[in-house]
Amino acid sequence: MIIGILSIQGDFIEHKKALDSIGVDNIFVKYAEDLQNIDGLIIPGGESTTISRLAKKWGLFEGIKKFSRPIMGTCAGAILMAREVLNEFDEKEDTPFGLIDMVVKRNAFGRQIESFETTLNFNGKSFTGVFIRAPRILKLGEGVETLITYENSPVMVKQGNRIALTFHPELSPDAILIHEYFVSLIK
Ligand code: GLN
Repeated sequence: MIIGILSIQGDFIEHKKALDSIGVDNIFVKYAEDLQNIDGLIIPGGESTTISRLAKKWGLFEGIKKFSRPIMGTCAGAILMAREVLNEFDEKEDTPFGLIDMVVKRNAFGRQIESFETTLNFNGKSFTGVFIRAPRILKLGEGVETLITYENSPVMVKQGNRIALTFHPELSPDAILIHEYFVSLIK
C-alpha cells in the first residue's frame, strides 16, 4: 500500500513523518501522474486558496476531483474537500474539489491567535486536537456521517471512503489513531 500526500503547499512533511512512524509507504504527489500509483490520498493543511490555485496551474485539480480511492483532508485539506466553501465574509469561493457533500466556512474561529488545542475523542480513545485558523463545518448532506464533534459541531466527517477533519492529526503524536483509521479505510 502506498499513500500519496499532496505536496503543493502546507504541512505535507508532517504527514510523511506520521505515516513513516506507523510504517506506511508514502510518496509526495506533485504531478497528475503521481495520482495513478497510490492507494489513498492525503490533502494536508496549509492555505486552501494557494493549494487550489496551484493544483489548477499544475494540472492536478481534475485528477483529484475524480480520484476514487480513499482521501483524507485535514484543515485546509478539509476545506478543499467541501462541496461549498465560504470565506470569513460569507462569500463563496471557487477553490474546492467538491469531494464531500458539506458546506465549510474558512477561518471560522477567528485569527491565528484564536488557534487552540483541545481533547477530542475517537472510538473511545482521547487525543489532542490541534486547531490552527480552523474552518467550521456548517452543513452536512444526507450521506455524510459525523465521526467526531467539538462543542456540538462536527470536526471529523466521513462520506463513503473520504474523511475530512478540521484539526491537524499530523501535529500531535497521540492523534496517530486518525492516520491509523485512514489506513484501515484503504485496507
Ligand atoms: N485558514 C486556512 C485556510 O483557510 C486553513 C488553515 C490550516 O490549514 N491550518 O485555508
